[in-house]
Formats: sequence, structure tokens, C-alpha cells
Amino acid sequence: MTAYDPNNIFAKILRGELPAHRVYEDERALAFLDIMPRAPGHTLVIPKNPARNLLDIDQGDLGYVAGIAQRIARAQMAAFAADGITVQQFNESAGGQVVFHLHVHVIPRHEGVALRPPATYKASQDELAASAEKIRAALEHVPQKWEPLLR
Ligand code: AMP
Repeated sequence: MTAYDPNNIFAKILRGELPAHRVYEDERALAFLDIMPRAPGHTLVIPKNPARNLLDIDQGDLGYVAGIAQRIARAQMAAFAADGITVQQFNESAGGQVVFHLHVHVIPRHEGVALRPPATYKASQDELAASAEKIRAALEHVPQKWEPLLR
């Protein structure tokens, strides 16, 4: 498999070289808004350790990222009065992957509302800032009880 490229866009976001609307960060993971949301609040969760995708990520990091995705999903349910959540994760070009640092898409859903097709809508900075603020506020009320299970 192709080696991890430290100059991918998400590695640059992790290093602070590119901006992002960050909704959650700790020593192992970062969650930020997708700039082309398929629905309002569309968030990406990534590990801090380098990993190209599902095929090379450390199992502990994968579990940790899944736990953060769960936490983001719970916050989105409240923040957007969502009816459900779609989680997506793509691997290699043939699998639909475009950015080669593992990321989990966590997308709030509403009954009867289809996802926008991928890469068709670029959100304004104002929209992203407002969505990020809603998720950060809702996260305050999401318990962190699951954390010990992942250590
Ligand atoms: P994929 O690799 O197919 O899962 O898609 C990569 C995702 O990253 C797409 O949904 C893009 O809209 C998103 N994306 C690309 N560049 C950025 C960026 N600078 N900040 C946030 N999201 C991005």
C-alpha cells in the first residue's frame, strides 16, 4: 500500500498550517467540520497519529476515533435536533477516499431529507462557525463515560 503522505490536507490541519472549524480536540483525536457538508453539521473525526486509512491504522487509534465519532454523533443529535446519524469512512481511491489521512464522516440526518451529493456545496465561513459552535455547546452535555473502555 502507498505510504502515508505527511503533506496531506488533514496533516496540515493537525499541524495548524491550514485553518479548520474545530469542534473537539484531545491528545489523540481531532474533530472538525467538513468544508463541503453533505448536511449541516457534517463533521470529520481524525486520529492525531499518522494513518492513511482503515488498512494501516493502529487498532487502538481506530477504537479511539470510533469513540469520538460516537460522542460527536450524540452531540449532533441534540445540536441539530437530528432524527439520525450517518457515518461514512472511505479507503483508497477505489473506495471513494480523496484525502489520505483516515477520517470518519459523522453526518446529522433528518427524516425524508437526502444527503447532498459529495463535493457539490461549499459552506460559508459563517455557516461553519455557527454549526461548530452548536456542536461544541452540545458536547458539554455528552458524558465521557465510555473513555475508560478504550484505554
Ligand atoms: P473522502 O476522502 O472521500 O472521505 O473526502 C474528503 C472529505 O474532506 C470531503 O468530504 C471534503 O469535503 C473534505 N475536505 C477537503 N478539504 C477539507 C478541508 N480543508 N477542511 C475540511 N474538510 C475538507
